[in-house]
Amino acid sequence: MDDKKERSIIMFPLPFPGHFNPMIQLARILHHRGFSVTIIHTSFNFPDPTHYPNFTFRTIHHHNEEEEDPLSKPDASGMDLVTFIRQLRQSYADPLRDSLKAEVGGGETACCLVSDVVWGKTTEVAAEEVGIRRMVLTTSGVASFCAFAAYPLLRDKHYLPIQDSRLDEPVTELPPLRVKDLPVMETNEPEELFRVVNNMVEGAKSSSGIIWNTFEDFESTTLMDFSSEFRVPVFPIGPFYKHSENILPTMKNKEDHATNDWLNKQSPRTVVYVSFGSLADIEEKEFLEIVWGLRNTKRPFLWVVRSGLVRGTDWLESLPCGFWENIGLKGKIVKWVNQLEVLAHPAVGVFWTHCGWNSTLESICEGVPMVCTPFFTDQRVNARYIVDVWQVGFMLERSNLDRKEIDKVLRKQMLEEGDGMRESCLKLTERANVCLSKDGSSSKYLEKLVSHVMSFDS
Ligand code: UDP
Repeated sequence: MDDKKERSIIMFPLPFPGHFNPMIQLARILHHRGFSVTIIHTSFNFPDPTHYPNFTFRTIHHHNEEEEDPLSKPDASGMDLVTFIRQLRQSYADPLRDSLKAEVGGGETACCLVSDVVWGKTTEVAAEEVGIRRMVLTTSGVASFCAFAAYPLLRDKHYLPIQDSRLDEPVTELPPLRVKDLPVMETNEPEELFRVVNNMVEGAKSSSGIIWNTFEDFESTTLMDFSSEFRVPVFPIGPFYKHSENILPTMKNKEDHATNDWLNKQSPRTVVYVSFGSLADIEEKEFLEIVWGLRNTKRPFLWVVRSGLVRGTDWLESLPCGFWENIGLKGKIVKWVNQLEVLAHPAVGVFWTHCGWNSTLESICEGVPMVCTPFFTDQRVNARYIVDVWQVGFMLERSNLDRKEIDKVLRKQMLEEGDGMRESCLKLTERANVCLSKDGSSSKYLEKLVSHVMSFDS
């Protein structure tokens, strides 16, 4: 078999930072092991290929240009995510198949497609038609995936759909989760939610393997539970961004420099870093509670307010007049930061997060304890694990988002119990490093993954 054929990978990420970033990190890891990488990407959020000179990019367009592109919004703010995912899969199924055919039919046959797990069975059909093997990348943790996979059971036992009267009840089949931690999202189409999740789980089960951005020491119990139930091979090779080929000199823009200068002026471990990721949004009322809560703590804060974060506004229109008079140089609001750089900065004392999986891993790997305000899907599961299992954060539920509570929980994290949590965090950081070391589990799984992929054509 010719060598080039064996070492070619096609990747199909979901076009959002929380999914695209880990896919690119995985691309670097595989490229470093000798694979050539082609990335098929939706025209929406199409990245600047000059930032990734080692990879070939192909754009695919929404299949019916006359219909409204489901991805025409800059993010999913205010959208029903369930409808959105369904539309996404429908719109890009044919373009993906056509693009795959063009790649594979060109003589330089690819040996494997790696697609984001959320694309579900869309990619199974396309890969089968084209005749290539398919693996999935799961950009969330194992525990949340197990909770998604348990949807039929959760439904049979009437945990789902969630009833307000049962929120605090333990889900005995999935400890330590409570009903309110189940990975659901608000939707006008509850039946569709089951179908969307089921499609994702089935797409993973029928794949040739699941690549996971996690590490064995971190999720050993849930990994064992998963493997005892599902036959598909798993490759927990994370944290991806900590592999040496992902530790890159960062390209800083003017805002990054300004943020870094500001952080340099703060004392060690004093800054509250606040970010709710790339998709969550909040009501104006919640925004104001956060504004006053942050001010009341009298701690320096760095807050990422994306445009679109506050529903119905462009950016900071709702900020009360005179706010900065009370804050001065103690606070900084930005539209986006280089989060890895921020978390690695010695001035950062706590991360107030929505508990997206990437943010969770990044905070743990940089040794920063958290305050957890999960919004939807896997964030709720991650938050429960952060608080109850790994014990590196306090919960601040969205339903409790008032200025007094914010002040109280942030102070508690910064002052009283935060040090213990930082130590627990650093222990996890150390365990991640061990897993990534030459004989560690992530390195071994990576070797297995490479052999697995190489075996596909033989
Ligand atoms: N991120 C960033 N700058 C920001 C906010 C987020 O670089 O201002 C990155 C963050 O480092 C993470 C990703 O965006 O890698 C967000 O992924 P996550 O899974 O935490 O949340 P999501 O955006 O998918 O809800």
